[in-house]
Amino acid sequence: MPAQVTERQYQGKVHEHSRRLMSDWMGRLSRAEAEGQPTGALMISGNCVELLLACHILPMFPEVTALQNAIRHKSLPLILKAEQAGYSSDNCAYVKADIGLFLDGGMGPGKPIPFPTITVCNYVGCNVYVKWFEHLADLSGSKLFMLDVPFARTPGEPTQADVQYVVAQLKELIALCEGITGRKFDIDELREILGYAARAEEGYARSKDLCKAHPAPFDAYFDAINMMGPINVLRGTKEAAEFFDVAVAEFEELVAQNLGPLSEERFRIVVEGPPPYPYYKNFRNLFAKWGAVAVASTYSTVGGIWEWGFRHDARRPLESIAEQMLRENLTNRSITARYQQIKRYVEEWEADALVIHSIKSCRLFSAGQGDMRDYFTRELGVLTLLVESDLEDPRYYAEAQLRNRIDAFFEALEHKKLVVGAAGRRGAGALPSEATV
Ligand code: SF4
Repeated sequence: MPAQVTERQYQGKVHEHSRRLMSDWMGRLSRAEAEGQPTGALMISGNCVELLLACHILPMFPEVTALQNAIRHKSLPLILKAEQAGYSSDNCAYVKADIGLFLDGGMGPGKPIPFPTITVCNYVGCNVYVKWFEHLADLSGSKLFMLDVPFARTPGEPTQADVQYVVAQLKELIALCEGITGRKFDIDELREILGYAARAEEGYARSKDLCKAHPAPFDAYFDAINMMGPINVLRGTKEAAEFFDVAVAEFEELVAQNLGPLSEERFRIVVEGPPPYPYYKNFRNLFAKWGAVAVASTYSTVGGIWEWGFRHDARRPLESIAEQMLRENLTNRSITARYQQIKRYVEEWEADALVIHSIKSCRLFSAGQGDMRDYFTRELGVLTLLVESDLEDPRYYAEAQLRNRIDAFFEALEHKKLVVGAAGRRGAGALPSEATV
């Protein structure tokens, strides 16, 4: 019987640092109205947060508010409020938690979450965004700016026509923001912000690259959330750039000491799909007890894919923002591009298996995941587990069922490792067929 796997208390600096930065940002949001600071609502996916910063508009992210309420076990009453108002049970639960917060009086004048002054729908990939932000703008009375980003349809670079189409809209957005703040836009200020953004992107990419080490220094799914705030919300600030300098130094030190997040790394997994925020820790424990560590995840790239080398470029400010929105984020790409991303993770990060966490209320992520499982198991021979719950709605988290499936999967994986090890010692090449749970 192998020794029990335990979690090391290692999160120290990165976790605390991230929490401090995010609370500072929340504090600024809660004071924005009193201080006359204009705010702008944005989507996380492929966002243009640097542009809002350069326009002196404080960014706010309804998705982050929704997930924070889920982590604090406050999402269900908000979801129910929205359902009572007519939102369907299979609507995206982020939307319902956000609208429910409005209906519950938890957003707006005098509240920690202010109304946005401008609602910027940076529509990439998920068409739910469009209606969500229309409703938000309507309810809050804020100005609505629809930023239409064409879906990435061609392999390789985005076309020049697509880049110019988005750049033209960014210029319109700048003019609108100038009207709101009464301040002239300064392109050199944007260049400086993009310099900080590129430094943070470099640090995030380096941190993820360090997970190629055995053991990985952090869990690139469950712990990546500590970095997703700074990279997606605070990108472009000096504080976020410095955060990643510190994170990289800490992770390099862990790699040098052969330390990972668990007492033992028995299985290296790649995870696809967002986590169940209402039961984040419970879900993590179901994997941790098996010594399973995520060495890469697609969710950590929802706001931007930095590990393949793309960086914002201060020499081409608006063009590089457009390119990131068009191509360098998970949600604006096809499902087959996601296959390629996961395949690289499995191969280059030397993973033992793929875990797909399917989200009941998120069609953008979940559509096609059955085929994805077939592709990885049948075509590539990658052991794949598919489980389902929700990222926001606790009613869809069935722990006993999840535990049964996860335990069965890792038992099969453990068995395979033993058989492969024994075959290797005997010099035989035969492997058991792949397990799919
Ligand atoms: S459906 Fe999915 S991608 Fe779209 S807004 Fe909801 S959680 Fe985000």
